[in-house]
Amino acid sequence: MKVCPICDGEIKREERTIVYRYKEHTRDIQQMGDYCIECQEGFLSPRDLKFSQKAISDFKREMDNLLTADEVKAIRKRLNLTQEKASSIFGGGVRAFHKYETGENTQSRPLDILLKLVNSGKVTIDDIQNLYLQYTLNNSKVGI
Ligand SMILES: [Zn+2]
Repeated sequence: MKVCPICDGEIKREERTIVYRYKEHTRDIQQMGDYCIECQEGFLSPRDLKFSQKAISDFKREMDNLLTADEVKAIRKRLNLTQEKASSIFGGGVRAFHKYETGENTQSRPLDILLKLVNSGKVTIDDIQNLYLQYTLNNSKVGI
């Protein structure tokens, strides 16, 4: 039996409902962890935190009107891009889209807007790639 370092109570491994607060909003998040049945203290490993990270990230994104992890993934798939390809087009490092889609990181607001524009069909991946190419080829020719 595992013992609580605070009160010597018994520690049980279980999933609990945690009320998570963000900008005056609350949401119930399922959190796996070791919990003391006496003092109710929770002991969360990095693995436990990963368990809830996507739900917490999605909650914050919804409150900030940003695309959720699954919405980012759905747009990327609709565009027929791998995570690596999407990251190279939109920037943010090789693992950027992996992080957006697991909740490890949240896309910036400008990227969120760009993804929504691409998803609406008003801007194409070719438009973006051509503009990036111009920056690479000749910086001075871009802009007014
Ligand atoms: Zn305890």
